[in-house]
Amino acid sequence: MRPPTFDDVLAARDLLSSRLPATPQWSYPALDEAAGASVVVKHENVQPTGAFKVRGGLTLLAGLAPERRRRGLVTYSTGNHAQSIAYACAEYDAPCTVVMPETASEEKVRATRGYGARVLLSGADMAGAQKAAEALADEFLLVSPGDTAALMAGVGTAYLELLEACPDLDAVVVPVGSGTGAAGACLVAAAVAPHCRVIAVQSASSPAAHDSWRAGDTVERPNRTAVEGLATGRGFTLPQSLLRAGLAEFRLVSDEQIRAAQRVLATHAHTLAEGAGAAALAAVLAAPDDFAGRRVAVVCTGGNASRSEIAALA
Ligand SMILES: *Cc1c(COP(=O)(O)O)cnc(C)c1O
Repeated sequence: MRPPTFDDVLAARDLLSSRLPATPQWSYPALDEAAGASVVVKHENVQPTGAFKVRGGLTLLAGLAPERRRRGLVTYSTGNHAQSIAYACAEYDAPCTVVMPETASEEKVRATRGYGARVLLSGADMAGAQKAAEALADEFLLVSPGDTAALMAGVGTAYLELLEACPDLDAVVVPVGSGTGAAGACLVAAAVAPHCRVIAVQSASSPAAHDSWRAGDTVERPNRTAVEGLATGRGFTLPQSLLRAGLAEFRLVSDEQIRAAQRVLATHAHTLAEGAGAAALAAVLAAPDDFAGRRVAVVCTGGNASRSEIAALA
């Protein structure tokens, strides 16, 4: 496993340019007032799949030899990685199998099938789904949602857009599950905006990436968050190696703080975020003194809120 480089992010931007327009980054005066800081929201919720991960999926497929595409891919996911790979496979005519845990949201299963992927529901959680996907690795190319360099290079393009549009940011806050997004942010910030601190955030109910970073080694932890995009029970080697080199801080927030931030995005920034897409703002709202008067970007990584999540915002 070779970690991606900044040049890989630049190459990914070229690959993606004909398929994905740059996403907007907006500020909202009401949100600035609520946060006591100058907040830039990077809107990955407007991607065609509703989440930033599609940047990684398309970059991966673009880089595969035609015969590997024809053979097909298998992966495992709670939702947005599934949609990303399914969408990219459809764009490149590659057969796609996705294993989701039996608890996956109805909306995400439907969306993934909508891109033409075969969806298998197996396992009580990600670890169970991973096992079932690995059993298909003889037949298809197995894609790890965390330890795949092309995915990190692809999602890093979001930070290239952000830091080129807003070169004077003091910090960018990135929600973490497997860590690919934050790893891409570290790569890009080091190259184009070394003064900008990359701050990761995870749910305290699923702290595997946080604890891995603190331990300097990949560890397993209980995985109890209700926030799907952040729900992982282990650290991933490749993103952790980049986080170790580039991350300024790693914070934890509660699921309740994430829900509150989802509400603030809805009421102060007319944005429907799924929980994971509001976690970065949750970290800012949780520590107002740390961010007071600063210019900080929060990445709204996704908008695929389930019906029950939307109902809980009321
Ligand atoms: C996957 C996901 C995350 C976490 O990203 P990683 O690259 O796995 O750390 C955050 N937000 C959303 C909406 C996601 O789908």
